[in-house]
Amino acid sequence: TLSDRLTSVLQNLRGRGRLSEADVDATAREIRIALLEADVALPVVRTFIANVKERAKGAEVSGALNPAQQVVKIVNEELVKILGGETRRLNLAKTPPSVIMLAGLQGSGKTTLAGKLARWLTSQGHTPLLVACDLQRPNAVNQLQVVGERAGVPTYAPEPGNGVGDPVDVARRSIDEAKRAQHDIVIVDTAGRLGVDEEMMRQAADIREAVQPDEVLFVVDAMIGQDAVTTAEAFRDGVGFTGVVLTKLDGDARGGAALSVREVTGQPILFASNGEKLEDFDAFHPDRMASRILGMGDVLTLIEQAEQAFDKDQAEATAAKIGTGELTLEDFLEQMLAVRKMGPIANLLGMLPGAGQMKDQLAQVDDKHLDRLQAIIRGMTPAERDNPKIINASRRARIARGSGVAIREVNDLVNRFYEARKMMQQMAGRFGFPGANRGGS
Ligand code: GDP
Ligand code: MG
Repeated sequence: TLSDRLTSVLQNLRGRGRLSEADVDATAREIRIALLEADVALPVVRTFIANVKERAKGAEVSGALNPAQQVVKIVNEELVKILGGETRRLNLAKTPPSVIMLAGLQGSGKTTLAGKLARWLTSQGHTPLLVACDLQRPNAVNQLQVVGERAGVPTYAPEPGNGVGDPVDVARRSIDEAKRAQHDIVIVDTAGRLGVDEEMMRQAADIREAVQPDEVLFVVDAMIGQDAVTTAEAFRDGVGFTGVVLTKLDGDARGGAALSVREVTGQPILFASNGEKLEDFDAFHPDRMASRILGMGDVLTLIEQAEQAFDKDQAEATAAKIGTGELTLEDFLEQMLAVRKMGPIANLLGMLPGAGQMKDQLAQVDDKHLDRLQAIIRGMTPAERDNPKIINASRRARIARGSGVAIREVNDLVNRFYEARKMMQQMAGRFGFPGANRGGS
């Protein structure tokens, strides 16, 4: 995958004293291949590579960072730039109701998105109304109603028994209904086809014309790769749109669509969907997407969550201790407690850098096991937690008795703590934690 390739390219640069022009060229070539393999559109790749090369060559004089860190930083910044920079928020009307129209191919995830968006907006204090303007597929209206019920939001649809309504008419009348029932946002779900076709485009353009949406969101399946660009261009020309929503990011999409669509259409990506459930949805964060593509895991999300659970000074102190290999069992316990406030442990570990290569170990981490570890550490004295080296055989027996486990489990914990401390110190070195170059094992 793109992430694996970029990770290995960047790892090749580790330990170099300075970055030569040949290094920059070779790295750029690797990244270019990786991006093309990830289905990023060629013009986008060219721009990207040119920017990275230019900046990497200029950067060698700065010298504040080591070469690998410099390249990571530049590649990451350029990825963020191509993905749109800042997170763009929804444009809402000064006078409600605001109108958000969804457009895209059949199966791209519009109806699912309508429900996700409705739920998300409701959680922010809005009172959205869903509008069924896909009158093409037999079951489409019902599908939207089901999604709406799940999201706790009403759906406006043509009256049953009136035969097939006119979607433009339904859209227009839904605005009156929204005013009457005091919905501040109207979400218009539209019909799509399997391929781009003129009639679908005309219908969508007519709906747009009739209701003058504040946002037209082009919904695109991230799995369609290179086709995302041609489809986006067709919708841009046929209907026009103000923003993009990427769906199915939970699949093994290689990230190319995200990179290309924004750059080629000039329109920002507003939201990302990563699953079939209503809650598998979030505002699109270019910085997080970039770090995911780079194979750094979703480090930013992890940091954000960690900041809510830990005190910043303590986290920094712990990071420094990890780097120097001075972590104690007391720190280990505190970390464990703080981390567990954030959710199931395997999910959290999955966000760490390099987690992809640790799948087997991750599968063995379960919360029950952590309960036992926690009990063992609680059974130790502060002096033992600070300096596990003093935990001799009689202390081990006492701890085991006190925490209701076998002596073997205490031994295991102490041994694994040493191993973990060593591994964390090595990881810290790879990712440039403070103090990581000092200290031995
Ligand atoms: P529409 O034709 O554009 O309205 O697309 P739908 O909303 O009906 O979605 C088509 C299919 O894709 C459905 O089976 C959805 O459950 C599924 N789907 C939608 N969004 C996502 C997503 O983010 N991830 C996954 N895995 N499936 C999705
Ligand atoms: Mg639909």
